Amino acid sequence: MHWNPYIDVRVEVSRAVRASCRQCGAAIDKGAYRVEAVPILGKPELLHVDCAAKRAPDHARRKLVDKDPDWPPEVLEDLARFVPEGVGPAPRSYQRTPIMDLGYDKDAAGVKPCVYCMEPCPGVAGPSHGHAVRAFSLDGERRFHPACIVELAPGLCRRIVVEASDRWPPELKAYFAQRVPAHVLPTPRSPWRHTAGVPALEHAPSARAACRFCSGKIDKGDLRLAREQIYGMRRSPVYFHVGCYAKSDDYHPKMIELVVLRAPDEVTREDLSRIVAALPPKAEEDDDVPALGERLEEIFAWVERKREATASKSAAAAAAKPKLTENIVDIPEGFFGA
Ligand SMILES: [Zn+2]
Ligand SMILES: [Zn+2]
Ligand SMILES: [Zn+2]
Repeated sequence: MHWNPYIDVRVEVSRAVRASCRQCGAAIDKGAYRVEAVPILGKPELLHVDCAAKRAPDHARRKLVDKDPDWPPEVLEDLARFVPEGVGPAPRSYQRTPIMDLGYDKDAAGVKPCVYCMEPCPGVAGPSHGHAVRAFSLDGERRFHPACIVELAPGLCRRIVVEASDRWPPELKAYFAQRVPAHVLPTPRSPWRHTAGVPALEHAPSARAACRFCSGKIDKGDLRLAREQIYGMRRSPVYFHVGCYAKSDDYHPKMIELVVLRAPDEVTREDLSRIVAALPPKAEEDDDVPALGERLEEIFAWVERKREATASKSAAAAAAKPKLTENIVDIPEGFFGA
């Protein structure tokens, strides 16, 4: 299987004079179409169209299958020539990136269109359009009018009312208080806030740590996700039940793929079954691809082969018996760093 860390690929005309392709290192000409590949962690990468078809073939296949209207027909033709045969499309749901947090854009640089209504933002005076709100997602940030973000993320707007932070102007807090429907509860803060890096799967060595999402106990021996904190003096990781991560705003199936791909030796096939059981049901739009559970089985089978290979390599070193399992998961270079 080909595995890549991307949640989506986008096409645009290159405006930069010098930009180089992450795949081949060569320059991308100004005025040429280029692809931006958005990884589950880290910054987007720029690619030539043909390089994108090689580096993220499943996403390229998805654009072809869906005849994605954001992709000009001539670019799709190019993609079609370079996507390797036999590569299926990426799940459509992987392009979904929920809004995880909002920020007040105090000195919004220039006027840009609101991503929801396309009207200038900030625009006409008043709380509904005179301010700019920044919405953060896995794939970056976008600008919205207050009136538009209430439609899209009412729970996060409710949280701004409840938290009453000084960073938001009083008139805007009052506006949200009045506009958010009464039955909408505040969205809980992201359990991943102030953490970074690839989360690790592990068995809890004791029952001392609680899950940051549900505050419930994580029993000794239970499988948990650990992630490093980036703020504060305590560098100790925070922990989650796998099922709680799957329920959080930050959930992305690609992250689960990533942690399974990186699963340490202590993670067993039974653990994998528990992870699969904790996953949300398959998204409706994913009607033409295997379920995440099946993808994880395939990834884990690769992990097991790699373990065997490592084990028999040390055995083979003694017995001088070379052999071994091919690396059949193809991971784009550079994602995990040096
Ligand atoms: Zn290239
Ligand atoms: Zn708007
Ligand atoms: Zn939990």
